[in-house]
Amino acid sequence: MAELRFSALREVFNREPLETEIPTGNISAYFGDDVFDIHKMEHYLPREAFRQVKNAIEVGSSLSRQAADQVATALKAWAIEKGATHYTHWFHPLTDGTAEKHDGFIEVGDRGHVVESFSGEVLVQSEPDASSFPSGGIRNTFEARGYTAWDVSSPCFIVDTTLCIPTIFVSYTGEALDYKAPLLKTLSELDKAAVDICQFFDKDVTRVFATLGVEQEYFLIDEALYYARPDVVLASRTLMGHQSSKDQQLSDHYFSSIPERVMCFIKDFEYEAHKLGIPVKTRHNEVAPNQFESAPVFEEVNLAVDHNQLLMDIMKRIARKHKFRVLFHEKPFAGINGSGKHNNWSLCTNTGVNLLSPGKNPKTNLQFLTFLVNVIKAVNDSNEIIRASVMNETNAYRLGGHEAPPAIISVFLGSYLRSMLDEISRKVTDRKMTPALKTELKLGIGKIPEILLDNTDRNRTSPFAFTGNRFEFRAVGSSANCSAPMITLNAALAYQLRRFKKEVDLIIKKGRTKDEAIFQVLKKYINESGKVLFEGDNYSEEWHREAEKRGLCNVKSVPESISLYLTDKSKDVLVKSGIFSEKELNSRVEVEYDKFTKKVQIESRVLGDLAINHIVPTAIRYMTSLVENVRGLREVFNELEFERLAGARKELIVNISDHITMIKKLVADMIEERKKANKIEDAYTKAIEYEKNVKPYLDQIRVHIDKLELIVDNEIWPLPKYRELLFTR
Ligand code: ADP
Ligand code: MG
Repeated sequence: MAELRFSALREVFNREPLETEIPTGNISAYFGDDVFDIHKMEHYLPREAFRQVKNAIEVGSSLSRQAADQVATALKAWAIEKGATHYTHWFHPLTDGTAEKHDGFIEVGDRGHVVESFSGEVLVQSEPDASSFPSGGIRNTFEARGYTAWDVSSPCFIVDTTLCIPTIFVSYTGEALDYKAPLLKTLSELDKAAVDICQFFDKDVTRVFATLGVEQEYFLIDEALYYARPDVVLASRTLMGHQSSKDQQLSDHYFSSIPERVMCFIKDFEYEAHKLGIPVKTRHNEVAPNQFESAPVFEEVNLAVDHNQLLMDIMKRIARKHKFRVLFHEKPFAGINGSGKHNNWSLCTNTGVNLLSPGKNPKTNLQFLTFLVNVIKAVNDSNEIIRASVMNETNAYRLGGHEAPPAIISVFLGSYLRSMLDEISRKVTDRKMTPALKTELKLGIGKIPEILLDNTDRNRTSPFAFTGNRFEFRAVGSSANCSAPMITLNAALAYQLRRFKKEVDLIIKKGRTKDEAIFQVLKKYINESGKVLFEGDNYSEEWHREAEKRGLCNVKSVPESISLYLTDKSKDVLVKSGIFSEKELNSRVEVEYDKFTKKVQIESRVLGDLAINHIVPTAIRYMTSLVENVRGLREVFNELEFERLAGARKELIVNISDHITMIKKLVADMIEERKKANKIEDAYTKAIEYEKNVKPYLDQIRVHIDKLELIVDNEIWPLPKYRELLFTR
């Protein structure tokens, strides 16, 4: 086995950077080449069809059958011109990835000849038999039908020779089976709710869309080393491995120059991304060795989510070309930083105003404060579901370490805004405002600097930080589909804005002015949201104690945290608002429990196997050689000298033997616990059982393996070590 490790290392040492042919100069020359975007639609479509599509994108109106046919014809012509032979409805099932089933653009004509064909009907809807996707019990296999329906707001694109059509995925009975369908619902809810609020300030606002910029962190490891680590191949993370003597202590990787082989990979995937219209912009080395980040220019949320999913696909594909594997797991290596996906989130109006950016005058600043405070109130009130939306088996390894925000969701504002809110809370009363107070408040908020960037974003430990013109939700995991946190945030804010509108209207009805009413409700919200505001170090022990005192949600168990999706309070936000039906929400939660269980189960199996058939035999081999050595010493030396010489070796033999005994025992016990847990029917109880009684073995077993790694002869150790995984490329 050790041969595999050494031949892998030899392979890596011999690798050359793979220079690919990428046009230099203007990115705009090829940006979006492989996308049927609005400009191409205008070019390829008859005027009326184009008008309908544009409306469908902007206000969600539906397409006539005729227009759909015309789009299909144009799309086919464009795609075939670009060399496409197949098409697929591309969707986001409740797994960690995307799904596609390709069909050729062909049909057999009357005379048995093959013709290229693609109609409006197939563009708009398809029916993949998708019974094998997680549905949480919505579909039984005997009614396996699922439908995919075109999402007009995300443009079609070509990957390789396949035309991809972004779609939603619903069951025969209309329940959502994917992330996109509910995401679109929340975006439309948020649009309506936010426009109503904007109307208080600006009658020209008719549309509000949420924006998202996803900073994507990832690790790279060489392909040969990857294949020599069955745990990474099967469980996406290292389940064993002693810490490298040097890893990130010196912070010498962060922002350092990008290694040449990696640079070739990055240039290559960025080129592919740009052709697909993904505006990737920023690249840099991250904190941990072999960890990197890619960030795009922000876009409308639905598009940004599609683009992030697509980007991960592209990265995986291009990494193979460069003999790398990209790891999106949140915590591929113990003891060093894991990876997240910072979700930069804001709201933008059709008039081009960023609602979370301070404006130029008191009026726009009151609008800014209104949205700011409502976001805070939403995060305060929907704390549990926001947290649940990022809690899963893999991200739990990262949250709460001293490198990622804790799983306690708090909001960081920065001292300037914090004191602004304090001022409002101090000065505003329920009484009619005096002209003096009005002027004072207006003066105060009029002074908010337009660019707050320098005054904020100093706190890198906050899970939900205001960074000058947006919120940065940092607790999202690097492998996640951003839809889940986006659905929750959008829904929570939409729900909150509706309540705000009601409360303000009520006060206006009682004879107060609009501004008075707004100030009064904002004051109330500021007072009610105190518990979620935190400016200090989120990594500190004191904060954990303080958060508990404040009553902030910090349920440690992942399944238990997910179960909070189902409280009455959560259902008010997610079900009463029409985002999910009760059945859909239940099924989603069920899927999450099941994913959790299965991931722990896989890790446990992989670790058990490797421990017994890689590690134990290796340790025994080394022990045997020690025993031989002791026997040899006895032959060569007299009794007295033998005792003196053999002592340390005998100790080593006992030590190794003890670890072996413990590993075998712990693996056997773990298997017993799995068997017990597997008998449980109920998904929640089973997940809890796996978390409580199976998962702890992973660490316990690992301790012994990692100790053995330090003792056993390096020459025979079968698995690439951390120092090799992290520092060879
Ligand atoms: P940092 O590492 O300092 O947080 P980055 O430049 O790596 O910043 O990433 C910031 C991300 O925030 C980018 O994707 C950027 O496009 C995005 N962003 C900026 N403004 C907005 C906005 N109004 N809405 C959503 N995302 C935004
Ligand atoms: Mg960044």
